[in-house]
Amino acid sequence: MNKKIINVAIDGPAGAGKSTVSRAAAEKLGFVYVDTGALYRTVGVNALRLGVDTRDRQAVAATLDGVSVDLAFEDGAQKTLLNGEDVSGEIRTPAASMAASDVSAVPEVRAFLFDLQRDIAKRNSCIMDGRDIGTVVLPDAQVKIFLTASAEERAKRRCAELELKGTPQKYEDVLAEINERDYNDSHREIAPLKPAEDGVILDTTELNIEQVIEAITNIVKEKTEK
Ligand code: C5P
Repeated sequence: MNKKIINVAIDGPAGAGKSTVSRAAAEKLGFVYVDTGALYRTVGVNALRLGVDTRDRQAVAATLDGVSVDLAFEDGAQKTLLNGEDVSGEIRTPAASMAASDVSAVPEVRAFLFDLQRDIAKRNSCIMDGRDIGTVVLPDAQVKIFLTASAEERAKRRCAELELKGTPQKYEDVLAEINERDYNDSHREIAPLKPAEDGVILDTTELNIEQVIEAITNIVKEKTEK
Protein backbone atom coordinates (compact mmCIF):
# COMPACT_ATOMS: atom_id res chain seq x y z
CA MET A 1 0.00 0.00 0.00
CA ASN A 2 1.21 3.52 -0.80
CA LYS A 3 2.62 4.84 2.51
CA LYS A 4 0.95 8.21 2.16
CA ILE A 5 -2.50 6.71 1.88
CA ILE A 6 -4.14 6.22 5.27
CA ASN A 7 -7.19 4.01 5.66
CA VAL A 8 -9.40 4.21 8.72
CA ALA A 9 -12.05 1.51 9.13
CA ILE A 10 -15.03 2.33 11.33
CA ASP A 11 -17.51 -0.47 11.95
CA GLY A 12 -20.41 -0.85 14.30
CA PRO A 13 -24.13 -1.50 14.62
CA ALA A 14 -26.98 0.53 13.11
CA GLY A 15 -27.51 3.90 14.76
CA ALA A 16 -24.16 4.09 16.56
CA GLY A 17 -23.64 7.47 14.88
CA LYS A 18 -20.95 6.16 12.53
CA SER A 19 -21.86 8.35 9.58
CA THR A 20 -22.16 11.62 11.52
CA VAL A 21 -18.87 11.27 13.37
CA SER A 22 -17.00 9.63 10.49
CA ARG A 23 -17.95 12.48 8.15
CA ALA A 24 -16.86 15.12 10.67
CA ALA A 25 -13.62 13.32 11.59
CA ALA A 26 -12.78 12.86 7.88
CA GLU A 27 -13.29 16.57 7.30
CA LYS A 28 -10.97 17.43 10.21
CA LEU A 29 -8.29 15.08 8.92
CA GLY A 30 -8.70 16.05 5.26
CA PHE A 31 -9.75 12.52 4.30
CA VAL A 32 -12.55 11.29 2.03
CA TYR A 33 -15.53 9.88 3.92
CA VAL A 34 -16.93 6.69 2.41
CA ASP A 35 -20.31 5.42 3.62
CA THR A 36 -20.48 1.78 2.48
CA GLY A 37 -23.99 1.29 3.87
CA ALA A 38 -25.14 3.45 0.94
CA LEU A 39 -23.96 0.74 -1.45
CA TYR A 40 -26.04 -1.98 0.22
CA ARG A 41 -28.97 0.41 0.36
CA THR A 42 -28.64 1.03 -3.38
CA VAL A 43 -28.68 -2.69 -4.18
CA GLY A 44 -31.74 -2.92 -1.90
CA VAL A 45 -33.51 -0.05 -3.66
CA ASN A 46 -32.78 -1.60 -7.04
CA ALA A 47 -34.37 -4.88 -5.86
CA LEU A 48 -37.41 -3.03 -4.47
CA ARG A 49 -37.82 -1.13 -7.75
CA LEU A 50 -37.74 -4.43 -9.62
CA GLY A 51 -40.43 -5.83 -7.31
CA VAL A 52 -38.09 -8.55 -6.01
CA ASP A 53 -38.61 -10.13 -2.56
CA THR A 54 -35.41 -8.97 -0.80
CA ARG A 55 -35.39 -12.13 1.35
CA ASP A 56 -35.17 -14.33 -1.75
CA ARG A 57 -31.39 -14.69 -2.08
CA GLN A 58 -31.40 -16.13 -5.60
CA ALA A 59 -33.73 -13.43 -6.88
CA VAL A 60 -31.60 -10.73 -5.24
CA ALA A 61 -28.42 -12.17 -6.79
CA ALA A 62 -30.11 -12.09 -10.20
CA THR A 63 -30.79 -8.33 -9.86
CA LEU A 64 -27.02 -7.67 -10.00
CA ASP A 65 -26.82 -8.62 -13.66
CA GLY A 66 -25.85 -5.59 -15.70
CA VAL A 67 -26.51 -3.14 -12.86
CA SER A 68 -24.05 -0.37 -12.01
CA VAL A 69 -23.59 0.97 -8.47
CA ASP A 70 -21.06 3.72 -7.89
CA LEU A 71 -20.05 6.50 -5.51
CA ALA A 72 -19.09 10.00 -6.64
CA PHE A 73 -17.36 12.52 -4.39
CA GLU A 74 -18.07 16.20 -4.86
CA ASP A 75 -16.67 18.77 -2.43
CA GLY A 76 -16.21 16.04 0.14
CA ALA A 77 -19.84 14.90 -0.12
CA GLN A 78 -20.71 11.41 -1.30
CA LYS A 79 -23.32 10.86 -4.01
CA THR A 80 -24.69 7.38 -4.62
CA LEU A 81 -25.41 6.37 -8.18
CA LEU A 82 -27.61 3.54 -9.47
CA ASN A 83 -27.10 3.06 -13.20
CA GLY A 84 -25.85 6.66 -13.24
CA GLU A 85 -28.96 8.02 -11.45
CA ASP A 86 -28.45 9.88 -8.15
CA VAL A 87 -30.38 7.85 -5.55
CA SER A 88 -28.83 9.51 -2.44
CA GLY A 89 -32.31 10.48 -1.14
CA GLU A 90 -34.24 7.34 -2.04
CA ILE A 91 -31.81 5.05 -0.17
CA ARG A 92 -32.63 6.69 3.19
CA THR A 93 -36.23 5.47 3.61
CA PRO A 94 -37.04 2.84 6.30
CA ALA A 95 -37.97 0.40 3.48
CA ALA A 96 -34.50 0.89 1.98
CA SER A 97 -32.91 0.23 5.42
CA MET A 98 -34.61 -3.13 5.77
CA ALA A 99 -33.97 -4.05 2.12
CA ALA A 100 -30.26 -3.20 2.65
CA SER A 101 -30.10 -5.43 5.71
CA ASP A 102 -31.69 -8.30 3.71
CA VAL A 103 -29.54 -8.02 0.60
CA SER A 104 -26.34 -7.60 2.62
CA ALA A 105 -26.64 -11.27 3.68
CA VAL A 106 -26.38 -12.42 0.05
CA PRO A 107 -22.79 -13.50 -0.76
CA GLU A 108 -23.08 -12.37 -4.39
CA VAL A 109 -24.01 -8.86 -3.22
CA ARG A 110 -21.00 -8.63 -0.89
CA ALA A 111 -18.68 -9.89 -3.64
CA PHE A 112 -20.23 -7.44 -6.11
CA LEU A 113 -19.45 -4.45 -3.83
CA PHE A 114 -16.06 -5.64 -2.58
CA ASP A 115 -13.78 -4.37 -5.40
CA LEU A 116 -15.44 -0.97 -5.53
CA GLN A 117 -14.77 -0.41 -1.81
CA ARG A 118 -11.16 -1.66 -2.07
CA ASP A 119 -10.45 0.55 -5.10
CA ILE A 120 -11.69 3.69 -3.38
CA ALA A 121 -9.51 2.96 -0.32
CA LYS A 122 -6.47 2.25 -2.45
CA ARG A 123 -6.72 5.63 -4.17
CA ASN A 124 -7.78 7.86 -1.23
CA SER A 125 -6.88 8.48 2.39
CA CYS A 126 -10.31 7.80 3.78
CA ILE A 127 -12.51 6.98 6.70
CA MET A 128 -14.68 4.12 5.49
CA ASP A 129 -17.62 3.10 7.64
CA GLY A 130 -19.65 -0.09 7.52
CA ARG A 131 -19.97 -3.47 9.22
CA ASP A 132 -17.02 -5.49 7.90
CA ILE A 133 -14.51 -2.86 6.85
CA GLY A 134 -11.81 -3.67 9.44
CA THR A 135 -12.44 -7.42 9.32
CA VAL A 136 -12.95 -8.14 5.60
CA VAL A 137 -12.76 -5.20 3.20
CA LEU A 138 -9.65 -3.45 4.55
CA PRO A 139 -7.88 -5.95 6.84
CA ASP A 140 -4.68 -3.89 6.43
CA ALA A 141 -6.22 -0.54 7.43
CA GLN A 142 -3.81 1.36 9.70
CA VAL A 143 -6.67 2.27 12.07
CA LYS A 144 -9.72 0.17 12.99
CA ILE A 145 -12.43 1.43 15.29
CA PHE A 146 -15.58 -0.38 16.41
CA LEU A 147 -18.13 2.25 17.35
CA THR A 148 -20.99 1.12 19.52
CA ALA A 149 -23.63 2.24 22.04
CA SER A 150 -26.54 0.56 23.80
CA ALA A 151 -29.55 -0.25 21.57
CA GLU A 152 -31.73 2.09 23.68
CA GLU A 153 -29.31 4.99 23.29
CA ARG A 154 -29.04 4.34 19.53
CA ALA A 155 -32.85 4.30 19.21
CA LYS A 156 -33.06 7.57 21.17
CA ARG A 157 -30.53 9.22 18.87
CA ARG A 158 -32.25 7.98 15.72
CA CYS A 159 -35.62 9.29 17.00
CA ALA A 160 -34.12 12.73 17.57
CA GLU A 161 -32.61 12.66 14.07
CA LEU A 162 -35.93 11.64 12.46
CA GLU A 163 -37.76 14.33 14.40
CA LEU A 164 -35.31 16.97 13.16
CA LYS A 165 -35.90 15.76 9.59
CA GLY A 166 -39.64 16.20 10.07
CA THR A 167 -40.33 12.45 9.82
CA PRO A 168 -40.83 11.41 13.48
CA GLN A 169 -41.35 7.76 14.37
CA LYS A 170 -42.36 5.98 17.58
CA TYR A 171 -39.44 5.09 19.89
CA GLU A 172 -40.71 1.49 20.24
CA ASP A 173 -40.74 1.03 16.44
CA VAL A 174 -37.27 2.51 16.01
CA LEU A 175 -35.89 0.31 18.83
CA ALA A 176 -37.50 -2.79 17.29
CA GLU A 177 -35.96 -1.99 13.88
CA ILE A 178 -32.54 -1.48 15.45
CA ASN A 179 -32.77 -4.76 17.34
CA GLU A 180 -33.86 -6.60 14.19
CA ARG A 181 -31.03 -5.14 12.11
CA ASP A 182 -28.49 -5.87 14.89
CA TYR A 183 -29.62 -9.48 14.92
CA ASN A 184 -29.49 -9.81 11.12
CA ASP A 185 -26.12 -8.11 10.82
CA SER A 186 -24.39 -10.08 13.57
CA HIS A 187 -25.88 -13.50 12.79
CA ARG A 188 -25.43 -13.72 9.03
CA GLU A 189 -23.03 -16.39 7.82
CA ILE A 190 -20.95 -14.09 5.68
CA ALA A 191 -19.00 -11.10 7.06
CA PRO A 192 -21.01 -10.84 10.31
CA LEU A 193 -20.76 -7.65 12.34
CA LYS A 194 -18.00 -8.04 14.94
CA PRO A 195 -15.04 -6.00 16.17
CA ALA A 196 -11.69 -6.59 14.43
CA GLU A 197 -9.23 -8.33 16.75
CA ASP A 198 -6.66 -5.58 16.22
CA GLY A 199 -9.16 -2.72 16.53
CA VAL A 200 -10.21 -0.25 19.22
CA ILE A 201 -13.71 -0.51 20.70
CA LEU A 202 -15.27 2.89 21.34
CA ASP A 203 -18.49 2.81 23.39
CA THR A 204 -20.28 6.11 22.81
CA THR A 205 -23.31 5.58 25.10
CA GLU A 206 -22.08 8.25 27.51
CA LEU A 207 -20.34 10.53 24.96
CA ASN A 208 -21.64 13.43 22.91
CA ILE A 209 -20.86 13.87 19.21
CA GLU A 210 -17.93 16.26 19.75
CA GLN A 211 -16.32 13.89 22.25
CA VAL A 212 -16.62 10.97 19.81
CA ILE A 213 -15.12 13.00 16.93
CA GLU A 214 -12.24 14.03 19.16
CA ALA A 215 -11.67 10.47 20.34
CA ILE A 216 -11.56 9.24 16.72
CA THR A 217 -9.17 11.94 15.47
CA ASN A 218 -6.92 11.29 18.48
CA ILE A 219 -6.84 7.55 17.80
CA VAL A 220 -6.01 8.19 14.12
CA LYS A 221 -3.21 10.62 15.00
CA GLU A 222 -1.80 8.27 17.64
CA LYS A 223 -1.72 5.31 15.27
CA THR A 224 -0.40 7.15 12.23
CA GLU A 225 2.05 9.68 13.62
CA LYS A 226 4.24 7.12 15.32
O1 C5P B 1 -24.92 1.76 7.68
P1 C5P B 1 -26.31 1.62 7.11
O2 C5P B 1 -27.39 1.59 8.13
O3 C5P B 1 -26.58 2.62 6.01
O4 C5P B 1 -26.29 0.19 6.38
C1 C5P B 1 -27.45 -0.39 5.86
C2 C5P B 1 -27.32 -1.92 5.94
O5 C5P B 1 -26.30 -2.35 5.02
C3 C5P B 1 -26.91 -2.47 7.29
O6 C5P B 1 -28.01 -2.79 8.13
C4 C5P B 1 -26.11 -3.70 6.95
O7 C5P B 1 -26.97 -4.81 6.87
C5 C5P B 1 -25.59 -3.45 5.57
N1 C5P B 1 -24.16 -3.17 5.53
C6 C5P B 1 -23.27 -4.22 5.50
N2 C5P B 1 -21.93 -4.01 5.37
C7 C5P B 1 -21.45 -2.76 5.31
C8 C5P B 1 -22.33 -1.65 5.38
C9 C5P B 1 -23.68 -1.88 5.52
O8 C5P B 1 -23.70 -5.37 5.56
N3 C5P B 1 -20.13 -2.59 5.15
